[in-house]
Amino acid sequence: AKKDGKNTYKIYQTDFSEDIVRKLDILQALRQAIKNNESLTLHYQPIVDDKKIVGFEALLRWNDPTLGFLSPAEFIPIAEESGLIIPLGEWVVRTACTAFNELYKNSEYMPYLSVNVSTKQFEQDHCVSKLKKILEETNFNPENLKIELTESIMMKDVEKIIEKLNQLRASGIGVFLDDFGTGYSSLSYLGVLPINTLKIDQSFVQNINDSAQEAIVRTIILMAESLEKGIIAEGVEEVGQLEYLKNLGCQHFQGYLYSKPVPFEEIPNLLNKEIHK
Ligand code: C2E
Ligand code: CA
Ligand code: CA
Ligand code: CA
Repeated sequence: AKKDGKNTYKIYQTDFSEDIVRKLDILQALRQAIKNNESLTLHYQPIVDDKKIVGFEALLRWNDPTLGFLSPAEFIPIAEESGLIIPLGEWVVRTACTAFNELYKNSEYMPYLSVNVSTKQFEQDHCVSKLKKILEETNFNPENLKIELTESIMMKDVEKIIEKLNQLRASGIGVFLDDFGTGYSSLSYLGVLPINTLKIDQSFVQNINDSAQEAIVRTIILMAESLEKGIIAEGVEEVGQLEYLKNLGCQHFQGYLYSKPVPFEEIPNLLNKEIHK
């Protein structure tokens, strides 16, 4: 809304109710989409080292018959607010695990599968046992599953969170801390959190030629090394960024430079693609 004198109030009011109508439309459509299991899909983005694809991150895509394509940045927050993130999150894990088992059933080597678990979902009392149950049902090896959590898990009862993380670790499921460096109280808890890997947020990677940002990335990598945690750089788009990151000691990368997230059917095309020249 533009500020143009006495009309301002009216314009804001209109925007406000349009926002609510849009949200309600999305909410209703999402409920249908989860029920019908038609318009939701997953795309997969490779995570690579110098030589091979080490894993894939599953990312939700939603092309609704009436609303059209919606970005996860728009519908995930609505799913979280409404509680729909619980069935949606379970659908993601079940669908991805089933697809991966099928794809790799005759292979010796299987890259890991990484799924995003929202803080709302992780806070559910039975989240860990639910995850384990889905792995049993889909016959998926827990060692091949990683879950990506954000630092916002730390806003609630820390002891409870650590207990859940320990349960995950005991079951063999790996834990990545997503968007690292953008969230709340990253440093104070890092030493005590049983997590395996930090994913450096793409905002740092994209500004890595800025000396202050480079210093932050350098520090995150050193810290991860001394805490014996892995590092993945997100959002690597350019060869220059890749070289910078490699020089700083980073060994795992994800970003458009290697591949955008692709539909499941396109994964086999990626498996023969050269990593870095
Ligand atoms: P995220 O988990 O941080 O995922 C990375 C996002 O960066 C993805 O956006 C991906 O497509 C994008 N990306 C990857 N490489 C590059 C690059 O080189 N450059 C740029 N500019 N972007 C890159 P996407 O798929 O739109 O997802 C946005 C966010 O929505 C995700 O951020 C995640 O927070 C959330 N999300 C997506 N799928 C799920 C899901 O299944 N469950 C939950 N809870 N959240 C999800
Ligand atoms: Ca993620
Ligand atoms: Ca991320
Ligand atoms: Ca993000």
